[in-house]
Amino acid sequence: MEQSVEQKLKDLWKLQTIHSQIDKIRQIRGELPEEVSDLEDEVAGLETRLEKIRTELDSLEDAIVNRKNLIRDAQTAIKKYETQLNEVKNNREYDAITKEIEIQGLEIQVCEKKIREHEYEIRNKTEIYEVTEKSLEERKSDLVVKRQELNNITSETQREEDDLDKQTQEAKENIEERLLTVYNRLRKAYKNGLAVVPIERDSCSGCHNKIPPQLQSEIRQRKRIIFCEHCGRILIDDNFLEEIQQVAS
Ligand SMILES: [Zn+2]
Repeated sequence: MEQSVEQKLKDLWKLQTIHSQIDKIRQIRGELPEEVSDLEDEVAGLETRLEKIRTELDSLEDAIVNRKNLIRDAQTAIKKYETQLNEVKNNREYDAITKEIEIQGLEIQVCEKKIREHEYEIRNKTEIYEVTEKSLEERKSDLVVKRQELNNITSETQREEDDLDKQTQEAKENIEERLLTVYNRLRKAYKNGLAVVPIERDSCSGCHNKIPPQLQSEIRQRKRIIFCEHCGRILIDDNFLEEIQQVAS
């Protein structure tokens, strides 16, 4: 049975409204999964950073321990040389041992300087560590909130979405294949997913270009399906919305 153009337009508009509702739900949820995954990346990045600082702090601590051992060795050596100093037999021996003591003394100074440098670095890195740790905690609690938000929305909208999917299938059954192909192509072509649009203030509400009065009256006659001359969307007249809403309520 061949449907009237008016019926075809009504069915198309019905499908469009169902699809627009689905789009709206996806849009609300749309940004949340991305926000959640951004936060997950950020948390992982901060954890890696903390791990790296921890490793650096560990090796600085090790370096200090090594330097302290070197100092102890040098001190032991000095004690040994000082004992030897009491038993020197000539000036040459005395000078040689004094020289050794001097060298060990310098070694201690170098080690002490290095230790101070390491301690300075440790203080800096610890500060960075604490700041990083704090922002990690903040990001982590943001993540908990966002995840919860996403879960809430998903569980709230899931049933609604399932219902709309069912309605979509039903609405599609009334539309002939050829028209459905055109509709799908248009819906895919436009970011806002609008394939069927009403006239609004003498313009196509899809692309906002003026519709000539002649074409407008043709659209109102509903004798054939009319496409916007500019964007190619299927146009319906403004009375359509009221009529359909009255039927629905
Ligand atoms: Zn248009």
